[in-house]
Amino acid sequence: MKKAAVIGDPISHSLSPAIFNLLKQYGGVPDFLYEAIHVPALELGSFLERARKDFIGVNVTLPHKEKVLDYVDDLSPEVARIGAANVIRFADGKAKAHNTDVGAILRTLDTHDVVLAGADVLLFGAGGAAKAACEAFGMMGARSVAIVNRDGMKAEAMGAAFVRHFPQTDFFSWQDGGAKKRSFTLVVNATSVGMDGSPIIWPSPFELLDTCTFSFAFDLIYRPAMTTFLKRSAARGATTIGGLEMLIDQAMATWSVWLNDLVDPEKVKRDLRRELTTLLEKEGTDNLFLCGFMGAGKSSVGKIVAEKTGRSFFDIDQQVQRRTGRTVGEIFQAFGEPTFREIETELLNEASHRSHQVIALGGGTLLRQENLEVVLRAGTLVYLNASKEHLAARLAQAKTARPLLADGSDTEALFRSREPAYLRAPVHVVTDGLTPREVAETLIQQLSLEKKS
Ligand code: NDP
Repeated sequence: MKKAAVIGDPISHSLSPAIFNLLKQYGGVPDFLYEAIHVPALELGSFLERARKDFIGVNVTLPHKEKVLDYVDDLSPEVARIGAANVIRFADGKAKAHNTDVGAILRTLDTHDVVLAGADVLLFGAGGAAKAACEAFGMMGARSVAIVNRDGMKAEAMGAAFVRHFPQTDFFSWQDGGAKKRSFTLVVNATSVGMDGSPIIWPSPFELLDTCTFSFAFDLIYRPAMTTFLKRSAARGATTIGGLEMLIDQAMATWSVWLNDLVDPEKVKRDLRRELTTLLEKEGTDNLFLCGFMGAGKSSVGKIVAEKTGRSFFDIDQQVQRRTGRTVGEIFQAFGEPTFREIETELLNEASHRSHQVIALGGGTLLRQENLEVVLRAGTLVYLNASKEHLAARLAQAKTARPLLADGSDTEALFRSREPAYLRAPVHVVTDGLTPREVAETLIQQLSLEKKS
């Protein structure tokens, strides 16, 4: 058995196992086995030591693309130049690091007719993928690359290193978003911000885009397919490029490093793109969304339904707290309701790409038409319909946790403004007089959901 894997932290978002399972059919290696393995930073060295004996190679994803160089015996010339690798090949007890991201970025930009000779680029990120991007921009003869990164020192150091490699390109750290340049041919996201499951960052580093003009936007992230970065860029009139093509390209190049050259690679690429696009489109169609006024029992009922039907449970309000590190009330207080709604929309979009979940919406999530559309497309919307008296009794105990009630605002008016959106749900469950468990049972029966055995 020829074993390989992709390693990273997190890793559940990875599409690489799906790609390599398809590739093995084209590559004629039926005894090839590929898996995704969660490897935290502290275990990287010990994992690679073990992998040398059992694996033909590993793909390396975030956050290990740079650190992994400490654990190999040999570097390809490209890796030695840029200091980041996404492929390790094990042979004769030795580990050699390669980088197939650079070629994949070059070919992806070429496919979209992005010409960078003499052009200006804005790059978000200074990690392993950003380094591969800088190498590609230098090779394409870009005039300048403005780098924006959370850790400004890393942006400075990366810029300085690439100016040495490509003296004709002005790589510079653009931390203050100052007036140096506002017009770009290409903007690129090589951070993990916006990736499925990543923390929600507020204010978004991509707000900078709203003050720039640019023709193309390339997000290396492939899940979700349409990221906030790409949406924001599309709204500015740019042509958008997602990360899927690059992912497929670097995987095919990885296959060649480990095993053999694929016959008719253009056809393989086309087939893979079709198969994976279909796979991504199928994601997120069998979800159950629970809506209703605050106090209707969305979280408690949702948890029970998820447990009984073997689905995962996703509570938008809880996720806001987990992923921003602030409570809903704190966000309202510090940034106001519009900011909270933005974060909520981002989380909903992300969750809607996954399948087999029960998702408890916030009381006001459906106020945005775009959210209602997402929910109606990605599953079944259920309204937990509780009478005003019933809600009033429950809310009387929970004023502090509900920011829109904390200032003594008119609950009745709030309910009236939200009810039309709840009534768009095709399924209604009247909850008065029922315990959360009874509501859950009613819902399961009403929708004929299969129970976990
Ligand atoms: P690294 O861990 O090496 O770098 C992560 C980058 O994201 C750094 O610039 C980091 O900033 C930034 N970042 C992380 N968290 C935050 C945050 N909370 N706020 C602001 N910035 C943040 O990862 P990689 O370079 O390997 O990967 C980056 C992204 O590119 C990932 O989403 C990955 O999936 C994608 N990718 C896609 C590929 C494809 O084939 N389509 C190939 C390679 C990568 P800082 O330096 O300050 O920590």
